[in-house]
Amino acid sequence: MKHFSRAAALGLLVLLISGGIRPKCHTETAFLMDTVMTITVYGRHGKTAADAAIRRLTELDAMLDAHNPNSELARFNAAPPDTPIAVSRELYMLLERAVDFCEETGGAFDCALLAVSSLWGFGGDAAAMPQPEPLNAALSVSGSRFIELNRSARTVTRLNDTVQLDLGGLAKGYAADEAVRILKEYGIQSACLDLGGNVAVMGGKPFSLWQSLYHRNKTCPFTIGIQKPDAPRGEVADSISLSDGFVVTSGDYERYFEADGMRYHHILDPQTGYPAQTGLKSVTVVAQNGMQADMLSTALFVLGAERGAALTEQCETVMIIDDSLKPIRMKG
Ligand code: AMP
Ligand code: MG
Repeated sequence: MKHFSRAAALGLLVLLISGGIRPKCHTETAFLMDTVMTITVYGRHGKTAADAAIRRLTELDAMLDAHNPNSELARFNAAPPDTPIAVSRELYMLLERAVDFCEETGGAFDCALLAVSSLWGFGGDAAAMPQPEPLNAALSVSGSRFIELNRSARTVTRLNDTVQLDLGGLAKGYAADEAVRILKEYGIQSACLDLGGNVAVMGGKPFSLWQSLYHRNKTCPFTIGIQKPDAPRGEVADSISLSDGFVVTSGDYERYFEADGMRYHHILDPQTGYPAQTGLKSVTVVAQNGMQADMLSTALFVLGAERGAALTEQCETVMIIDDSLKPIRMKG
């Protein structure tokens, strides 16, 4: 009894000193890149750091949104063909990485399909299956082989009047890299960022003072839920424990329409111009680089489990969910 009351008194004291049992944290939310983005930062100066990260995300949205006519990307897409266009250092770097990755994936990841995906109109009110003729016509002159990069001049050229860039397959991943970089610049050690299907965690989740009395470590891994396809948002099929890194999911349930009992979703097979059909409903990738994880999940979704097997080497973890809705860990 004596021991109990001493322990209780100690607990109470800890509570009083700490002002509570939860670690200090700050959350900021913004609607950017067509999705809700949430940044949770632990420790001191959380608000200042989270605000700076949101400013950076806003900047990237304004640069990379192909549907915003004022973005750098949209201005490039509207530029005359066969004319080298000088672009920012950052956009050039992203395009170079995207084009390299296109080669690496045998063309499965292609950031120059906007003319094709626009015909489908995913996400808009008029989304519908395009007629085969315009679809094939657009496809025959789309793809990164019709984009020319010149590194020394830092220019990019459209090689015909149709080809247009769409960085939707990597923008949120790169945004996650940048947001984490900014938080670190502000001295943040622990944070969790959810950029709409792209999750980044850093430094593990701090234990509450109460928990830290029982644990040697000061943090534990974050638990990241993997969305169950076609279930209400937040219903999870599985979860991943991670202290540092990026968890990115590409799924057929993100943006789609249905017609004649078929689902047409937003991830295109660059060979056909039609939504990729490999029997997968989602692919989740864990990696230490957000942009790479984002590109990998999209490419693996297009290639499917067998053809994508070699790419899984670049991932810490790969989880696929097929029609059975049972998560399968291909790696990790
Ligand atoms: P994610 O959700 O990261 O898999 O990216 C899907 C987005 O990437 C789409 O909304 C398009 O903007 C773009 N996209 C679609 N198909 C491809 C593809 N085969 N390669 C690269 N980007 C694509
Ligand atoms: Mg992606």
